[in-house]
Amino acid sequence: MGDQRVRLTVERQTLKLRKPLETAFGTVARRELAIVALTGEDGVTGYGEAAPLEAYDGVSIERVWQALQDYQPVLAHSREMNGAQLVDACRQVHDLPTALAAIDMALWDRAGRRTGQPVAALITDKPVATIEVNATLTASDRAGAAEEAAQAVRQGFSCLKVKVGIGDDNGRLAAVRAATGPHVALRVDANGAWDVDEAVRAIDAMASVGLELVEEPTHGLQAVREVRERVAARVAIDETAAEHGALGAGVADAVCLKISRCGGIAGLLAAATLVRASGAEVYLASTFDGPLGVAAAVHAAAALASRGPVAPCGLATLSLFEGVEDQLPVHEGRISVPLGAGLGVTPG
Ligand SMILES: [Mg+2]
Repeated sequence: MGDQRVRLTVERQTLKLRKPLETAFGTVARRELAIVALTGEDGVTGYGEAAPLEAYDGVSIERVWQALQDYQPVLAHSREMNGAQLVDACRQVHDLPTALAAIDMALWDRAGRRTGQPVAALITDKPVATIEVNATLTASDRAGAAEEAAQAVRQGFSCLKVKVGIGDDNGRLAAVRAATGPHVALRVDANGAWDVDEAVRAIDAMASVGLELVEEPTHGLQAVREVRERVAARVAIDETAAEHGALGAGVADAVCLKISRCGGIAGLLAAATLVRASGAEVYLASTFDGPLGVAAAVHAAAALASRGPVAPCGLATLSLFEGVEDQLPVHEGRISVPLGAGLGVTPG
């Protein structure tokens, strides 16, 4: 990723979900993104995006916007720096992973476009061609969830994700299981809705439907460790993965990694190495990022899957947006890694 002076331009974009999604941290109806374009002296432009979700990660679009403005002079005055050095230089003026992720992914996109290679092929010589993804059920009522589940199974998904900690979890899950039959993996995500005792009770009550894993039953390393010791189900961390020391702590069976939280593709690959060394499994997801963010995760997952197992990823979300062409469509529960240069998708 050798670069000289780099020009950064930023644009805001709003994507609207077809149906609002209810979660333990609130309802998500739309996503505000900052789309960055990085152009080098060779005239090649790479694109990236920042996708903060304040109710979830506490990062506002205004903070991201300010950070990106602060990166502009850093990039404009950079000389003879490679991609990692450029991201480090930006981090020194504003250490905000969500904003750094946009810079990192634009540099990868640019590097791919310059060499005509997909990003996954820049990371590893043998990226896998497709990655397995889960369907995300958005209905909060039993009949609606069952209908979505049946449709997802017909479309070929073999892992479905259900938000829990939002009321009638057991009834909804039972309806979903009845609709899927016994062979589909059901993953639940509580987004930290429970304390330790509540989590143990809730997980025990849900266990009869058969769970692939329970994501973020409670927030905090110590609390997750306690829950995992007291339940039979597999436990994963997501929000808690942001805590210092969480990636290598080995408190969970699996760790959900996000491009945005890791500060980009390079940060995510480093995080995955720590997680795997601790004996836990990795999978990737986004918080309803736009096409660039999801594509960055698809490329990273394809590289990681060439070196070890990756659990189904939460990246089958672009079709949930209204009026956005799905550039990473799902076939039989899998997304094909784009073969075009760079990230292989266009912004928006
Ligand atoms: Mg989650």
